[in-house]
Amino acid sequence: MFEMKKVEMKKRKNIALIAHDHRKQDLLTWAAQNREHLEKHCLYGTGTTSKLLSKETGLKIKAFLSGPLGGDQQIGARIAEGDIDFMVFFWDPLSAQPHDPDVKALLRIAVLYDIPIAMNQSTADFLFSSDYMDEAYERRVLDYSSRLSSIGDKKNE
Ligand code: PGA
Repeated sequence: MFEMKKVEMKKRKNIALIAHDHRKQDLLTWAAQNREHLEKHCLYGTGTTSKLLSKETGLKIKAFLSGPLGGDQQIGARIAEGDIDFMVFFWDPLSAQPHDPDVKALLRIAVLYDIPIAMNQSTADFLFSSDYMDEAYERRVLDYSSRLSSIGDKKNE
């Protein structure tokens, strides 16, 4: 069985915002309704989503590449590195995406690192009304450090 470690999410969360094209308007509407709440946090997003959200809501968002050009992978890497700890990702359940493997990889990494993920408006509303949004929280993440150091030990034997 793998060991787990606790990772602290601070009161100010690092939130990734992503929407597929047919869901962008839904995310824009939701973000406009939750603008005051969102601006308390540090925001990131895929290229087009970030641009649209910044333009429509005035929120400050750090933009990665567009999703189909690698933006989902960049966000997945930031989650693995611990720099992003919350995700609002309105993916499209009715259209095939050219970057489907990247979408799947991003969702897998987000689950693996135990970060909250809202994939539709109601979940986003429930998450944003949680007391945890205004407090620190400890996530439980797989800890490979003893496994990796035991490999080092064997190598040195
Ligand atoms: P976009 O990417 O914000 O650049 O449209 C979203 C996605 O398809 O993952």
